[in-house]
Amino acid sequence: MEMEIMDCRLCAQKNTKLFFQQPHGLNIYWGCDICGLIFMDPKNYLSPEKEKEHYLTHNNDVNDPRYQNFVADVVDYVKQNVSHKESRGLDYGAGTGPVISELLAREGYQIDLYDPFFYPFKIEPDAQYDFVVSCEVVEHFHKPLLEFSKLKNLLKTGAPIVIKTQPYEISVDFSTWYYRRDPTHVVFYRPQTFEWIKENLGFQKIARHGERLFVLGN
Ligand SMILES: [Zn+2]
Repeated sequence: MEMEIMDCRLCAQKNTKLFFQQPHGLNIYWGCDICGLIFMDPKNYLSPEKEKEHYLTHNNDVNDPRYQNFVADVVDYVKQNVSHKESRGLDYGAGTGPVISELLAREGYQIDLYDPFFYPFKIEPDAQYDFVVSCEVVEHFHKPLLEFSKLKNLLKTGAPIVIKTQPYEISVDFSTWYYRRDPTHVVFYRPQTFEWIKENLGFQKIARHGERLFVLGN
């Protein structure tokens, strides 16, 4: 069966190839030769109702030490790099249990919560934040180009966006990869995809910290 080539969800070019297809006509994933993004075919997306149901099963309890430990690298990055005095941050994609915001608030940071399902407040279009954190969120973006452009505009000059996601590395078997098997994970980034974002969306810096932390500097 002929399949129509998809435009990339990030760079919008038509240089995508079929990357992986689950057997029995299940999900299809495309890979982009330009920016390196791998993305689920939009026709395989869950409905918004099913997607929300899935997030409710995550059950991120702010007092759970395991969850606090999981977000420690994001929290530490902010503590070490952003002065808490009069700074205002945004937790973009805060989810059901906003543990990062809770931990940063204890340190004196002011932080707004945004989540399309759980904290759908209207971000002022001219809001200017000193930092943004986005922990295990960017892999859920249906429109990554739009989302990253929006986030860039919300940052003050020099302000960071601290992103936690599991990047796709060439050594990974995509077919069995746990990260792919989450049906709400619809875009996967290679390390060079963040370079593409930096170069093409006008960020000043990109740095990787450890395996999963990527920091874009405005
Ligand atoms: Zn692309």
